[in-house]
Amino acid sequence: MNKILRGVIKYNKNVADRVKFVSDMEKVTKQLVQPKSVFVSCMDCRVLPSKFVSSKIGEIYFLRNAGNMVPHYDAYIAGSISSEGGGLELGCITNKIRNVVVCGHSDCKAAYALFDIRNKCDHTHYLHNSPLRTWVALHGVRTVDKFSQLYPDNVEHPEVFDSTEPMVFPVNLGGQDIDAIIDPENKFCIQDKFSQLHCLEQASHVKTYPMLREHLISGDLHIHAMWFDVYTGNVYMFSPSRRTFILVDDNSIETLLQDAAEYGTQAADD
Ligand SMILES: [Zn+2]
Repeated sequence: MNKILRGVIKYNKNVADRVKFVSDMEKVTKQLVQPKSVFVSCMDCRVLPSKFVSSKIGEIYFLRNAGNMVPHYDAYIAGSISSEGGGLELGCITNKIRNVVVCGHSDCKAAYALFDIRNKCDHTHYLHNSPLRTWVALHGVRTVDKFSQLYPDNVEHPEVFDSTEPMVFPVNLGGQDIDAIIDPENKFCIQDKFSQLHCLEQASHVKTYPMLREHLISGDLHIHAMWFDVYTGNVYMFSPSRRTFILVDDNSIETLLQDAAEYGTQAADD
């Protein structure tokens, strides 16, 4: 706790910053600032979204958990309650936010844990000895199912991962069905490719919530996927028109903004 408490002391002593901080919060309280996005990311200590999207107070609702999970709405029907649905309601319904971003990352220990149990992805088995594996198995089961459809024999024959052929993963983020191409340049290890696939799958779960349906159909709610590389600090965003994650920089930003405006209508049924 020493680091945390010393941090509070440092915060208290920086009077000018604190005055600005309180003033910025007051603007949000008085609704002078409208938050723009709900941002779902992993809780990993290297992943600081406010840093790499340069956000300020009042702009983004952050939802963080192990493995940037967005539980599929079917999990609620089955009686499994988690905070993510509540967070989506708080952001998108209570605060009328119309952008949801789901962000994965490289070297994600939660995604790696899911990858490791892909041949026995049964949350009931892990219930008592590993809440983490239970969590990722419960809400990552669709990631595993789709990955296993791509590589049916991957557990017995992991050499299939030596292929340089890009992984093609069907996804729908609330608009058109897209065959996403994972890591076309073959830059990442299989676990990080899996993490990108997992990020897209979790982003696709946002559209399963009935409370969001009318906004998806009318086209005023948009779902996006990002991916952060902890080794380089690079930020990638999924481009529906390019069908892959592309580096966010001056060269790509117009394409990504155009994508964000054009995609995200005609909600699918699943
Ligand atoms: Zn992670």
